[in-house]
Amino acid sequence: MEIKKVRGFQDIYGKEAKKYRYIVDTARNIFENYNFEEIILPYIEDISLFIRSVGEATDIVQKEMYTFEDKGGRKVALRPEGTASAVRAFIENKLYTKGSYHKLFYEGAMFRYERPQAGRYRQFHQIGAEIFGVETPLADAELIKMVKDLLDRLSINARLEINTLGDFESRKRYIQTLKEYLNKTKENLCDVCKTRIDTNPLRVLDCKVKACKQSIKDAPKLIDFLPEESLKRYQRLKEYLKELKIEFVENPRLVRGLDYYTDTVFEFVSDEIGAQGTIAAGGRYDNLVEQLGGPPTPALGFAAGIERLMILLKQTPPEKQLTVIIPMIQEFEPQALKLASLLRKKDLRTELLLKTGSLKSKMKTANKLGAKYVIFLHEKPELKDMETGEQEIFQTEEDLVDVLLKRTTQTS
Ligand code: ATP
Ligand code: MG
Repeated sequence: MEIKKVRGFQDIYGKEAKKYRYIVDTARNIFENYNFEEIILPYIEDISLFIRSVGEATDIVQKEMYTFEDKGGRKVALRPEGTASAVRAFIENKLYTKGSYHKLFYEGAMFRYERPQAGRYRQFHQIGAEIFGVETPLADAELIKMVKDLLDRLSINARLEINTLGDFESRKRYIQTLKEYLNKTKENLCDVCKTRIDTNPLRVLDCKVKACKQSIKDAPKLIDFLPEESLKRYQRLKEYLKELKIEFVENPRLVRGLDYYTDTVFEFVSDEIGAQGTIAAGGRYDNLVEQLGGPPTPALGFAAGIERLMILLKQTPPEKQLTVIIPMIQEFEPQALKLASLLRKKDLRTELLLKTGSLKSKMKTANKLGAKYVIFLHEKPELKDMETGEQEIFQTEEDLVDVLLKRTTQTS
């Protein structure tokens, strides 16, 4: 019997793989221009890392983590997100001793046991960044601008939504009041939200069920509970965004699904991809480093979902022109192998036709491959320009390569 891929997992190939690579390369380029450094993090972590950071009561920890015991009896999880690992690495490698602040980015697969649908998979990929050690909202503005630059470069339209969650203390007071309100309207909430009232009431504000959205319309607002300091930094951030001409909407219901956030939270949302509209999200987590055993370190970060960016990415980058080499003898072709490796060394994209057959069928293949040039290897090498139809015979292969190089550098 044929073996199929596991539900919620995907093969990314062909044009989709090109999109994936283009998005990651573009992001890497932009992040490096912002002077972020890459960190390559493990896919498996101690389960308690996520319990202590993402939060015991969150959907991720409660229902979505892939957990198992390894052969040494360690309780581990496939990472559901990147921030926890980045913080763990920051502490474990004492990166805080290496400068006054740190800017890191990462990329790769994340795993969550969710209900698969368009734009939602059990293995998905994120590109994200973190800033450690900066308290001022200047960092929040810069991070948001960096995400905006990425979306602009990819020609993706998304609405920026921002909110502030304040500190843990005032949020606690707010949650108390919110619980009272939710209990009063309990019958109108979905079953999941009914249980959330006790376990994770903030998450009700984020529920996608219509009835829930309706019933929280008049819920108390977190912003009314926040201290002066939080409001001031929120004001600052908005001023920075205005200076940068980044449009935003304030969404007092934006709470995010992870426990570690404080103060600024933000999402970039697209209306073009239905319910799975959030393409990038992040915020501050000023307590997390200390909570995980590091020195008190204000920090913030974001992650973008690569699959969702792929859905929204309309154009793929122009591809390198292809030269196809067609050997004319059937049995032994050392000359063709040598020419092909010479062209590749010169950084030309080259396909040596590996299948034998009639000249006609070989030309058909060259056409299908989208060859810009074809080289026939007879006694003397011959170059054909597939666009103009022009054909030219050369004395030596070196002569042909010289001309080919000149032409390809002119046109690319
Ligand atoms: P959502 O509300 O869509 O579930 P989230 O709040 O769980 O998103 P985060 O944990 O903040 O998402 O992750 C950041 C980004 O990663 C999301 O905005 C989204 O683009 C992407 N993402 C999250 N979960 C998935 C998934 N299961 N499949 C594909 N992409 C995902
Ligand atoms: Mg989610």
